Amino acid sequence: MRILLVEDETRMASFIERGLKEEDYVVDIANDGEKALFQAEINPYDLIILDIMLPVKDGITVCRELRIKKINTPILMLTSKDRVKDKVLGLNAGADDYLSKPFAFEELLARASALLRRDKADKTGILKISDLEIDQLRHKVIRAGNEIKLTSKEFALLEYLMLNATHVVTRTMISEHVWHEDFDSLTNVIDVYMNFLRNKIDKGHKKQLIHTVFGKGYVLKE
Ligand code: CA
Repeated sequence: MRILLVEDETRMASFIERGLKEEDYVVDIANDGEKALFQAEINPYDLIILDIMLPVKDGITVCRELRIKKINTPILMLTSKDRVKDKVLGLNAGADDYLSKPFAFEELLARASALLRRDKADKTGILKISDLEIDQLRHKVIRAGNEIKLTSKEFALLEYLMLNATHVVTRTMISEHVWHEDFDSLTNVIDVYMNFLRNKIDKGHKKQLIHTVFGKGYVLKE
């Protein structure tokens, strides 16, 4: 899951970034409104965390312009004051949720993951295909009734495959959503991780769920 964090206060930005990275989100930071718009147009984000008080262009304007450009990524607005007006403006501009500063990181995390789940899975955060089940909230994986232990990177990769089940995901898509670095250096790493994942998920099972689509990428399906 790739998140764009738009925040000009360096300390606040690195505090949020650190916390999100610990939860295995891929995080990019933009420190003004103009850069945020640029980043959001060239990269496929799963969520945008958007501060209102920003240099160059404020968060409300950024939000409105994103929606005009038909970028429908969920937006979590950060309002610095507990002002009703800011919240109303934010929601009217197309934000999906807001959080008033100061906030507890746990609350930011809960709201972010609710927005990330909203379109893609049911509210419980349980994704299921065949006899494979993953719990996005508890980071738990079960196949045929047995729990499988995954590293956090393996989990992020499997989660991404599950969210796109039955659709081919290319290595570029994987590198953009699950890794941070640029794609060229990653081709090998992705294949290596995919093998780790296969060994844990499919090995010993009659039905293979992870399939290679030659020349394209991977697909998770029955
Ligand atoms: Ca700010």
